[in-house]
Amino acid sequence: MEEFQNEAVDYYYDEIERSASPAKMAFYRAVASIMLVGLIGILGLYVTEKVANFEKEGYFDLRKAQVAAATAAIEYTDVISLKGNEEDTGSPVYEKLRGKLARIKRSDESIKFVYLMRPKGDKLIFLVDAEDPSSPDFSPPGQIYEETSPEDLKYFNSKNEKGKWPEPSVEEMEKDRWGTWVSASAYICDPEGKPVALLGTDVDVSKALAGVARIKYIGRLLTGLTAILFLIISIQYITWTYNKAKRESLRREMEGKIIRLNEELIRADRMKSDFLELASHELRSPVSAVDIAIQTLDKSLDGKVNEDEKILLEIARSGSRRLVNLVDDILDLTRVEAGDFKLEPKKINLKETVTEAVRLFEPMAREKGLAISLTFSGNNPTAVVDEHALLRVLENLISNGLKYTEAGSVNVHVQVGNERLRIAVKDTGIGIPRHAAKDLFKKFARVHEFRASGVKGTGLGLSLCKALVEAQGGKIWYEENPEGGSIFAFEIPRHAAHVAA
Ligand code: ADP
Repeated sequence: MEEFQNEAVDYYYDEIERSASPAKMAFYRAVASIMLVGLIGILGLYVTEKVANFEKEGYFDLRKAQVAAATAAIEYTDVISLKGNEEDTGSPVYEKLRGKLARIKRSDESIKFVYLMRPKGDKLIFLVDAEDPSSPDFSPPGQIYEETSPEDLKYFNSKNEKGKWPEPSVEEMEKDRWGTWVSASAYICDPEGKPVALLGTDVDVSKALAGVARIKYIGRLLTGLTAILFLIISIQYITWTYNKAKRESLRREMEGKIIRLNEELIRADRMKSDFLELASHELRSPVSAVDIAIQTLDKSLDGKVNEDEKILLEIARSGSRRLVNLVDDILDLTRVEAGDFKLEPKKINLKETVTEAVRLFEPMAREKGLAISLTFSGNNPTAVVDEHALLRVLENLISNGLKYTEAGSVNVHVQVGNERLRIAVKDTGIGIPRHAAKDLFKKFARVHEFRASGVKGTGLGLSLCKALVEAQGGKIWYEENPEGGSIFAFEIPRHAAHVAA
């Protein structure tokens, strides 16, 4: 038992040591959560950027497709018939082409300028411009495009593979007095695939950019909200786990303390039993010797002593009797508690045994002016029980009945059933207050202190009765006597063999 206790205590303390403190765990969780929030933020922003770029690329591709489709409306023969100077102005081909470019411009309100260019030397020159000639933005035929880059001339100079037409292109965004725009251009080619002119469209992209900006804004907002939501959930989770761990560690600590306390109680109880057993053994022999000597002395001196000596002898006789009873009670109780009490059932005639026990108390009853009676119910008075244990219980109950009754009677009622036998000792004494009834059978429990009742006692008798009755597989209880006083009753199996070993 003790070994188990120690093991259990060690286990609990080890557990407490092993498990990280709740505050430490909460700190680790908080760090992990912050890192995760950071990760969510980075990931969210990255995805947003990707989606926005994708949208932008898609817009540029659309522009390229638009300009590529527009080239289909321009016949290369018209283009090559142009001279590329002021003389073209007003010619039918020039006007035809200008009308086509103007239609392309009108087809989409974000297209600001549409024009045809072709190389002259290391620069591009304007061939046709969709603008009205009266507009300040109008570029007349032959006007040099000053910002020509080598890239613009690349396809004109190289020989393209047959059937492989140069791809339309979109230049980087630009910001100037006309707003934010991109130039999307495609080549007009001859049947051999050789570019003869460049169809350029300058497109206002502010609307498209606003769309991209909106995507970025929504993406960032969602990322921020997700991060905040995650942070709130993390805080809730960390607080919850922290509180749970705290409760758990407190519980473990409490359990450890309770186990230690229990261990100490068990040790103290064992020490008390050890002491009682030792004391009883050491007391039993001298006390019995004194008792026998006094009884013998009492008998042999009968008639030879005067009144005073007779009183002294009587005091010595009853004192030694009480001492023997007390030592017997303690000895029996410690034996039953230690599991050393061996039951020795034998067949007895209950009627005879109980009658004899009651008869022994008649002098005491007579002395107090009390009536003592025995009633019996049941057909067969025999039983197989431990007579010694039965008598110890009965004697204790009858003696209590007489002790705590000043006037009236004590009645012992035996009821023999087929399986069980019940004995009740009823008195008309001082009774037991209701609040005290539940502790009656505990060791050293005294309801009526000597000062109040004038009755000496130890509070061991009833606990011994309980131990002996339970050792026989029975039960004992207290009832209030409706006529005033107490009823103590017990019930045990009638055939001890029926008691589980
Ligand atoms: P003791 O009689 O030696 O004190 P017991 O264990 O026999 O010890 O009884 C415990 C207490 O129960 C007594 O001190 C007494 O106060 C109360 N008691 C027992 N029997 C009776 C009874 N028949 N009537 C009233 N009180 C009783």
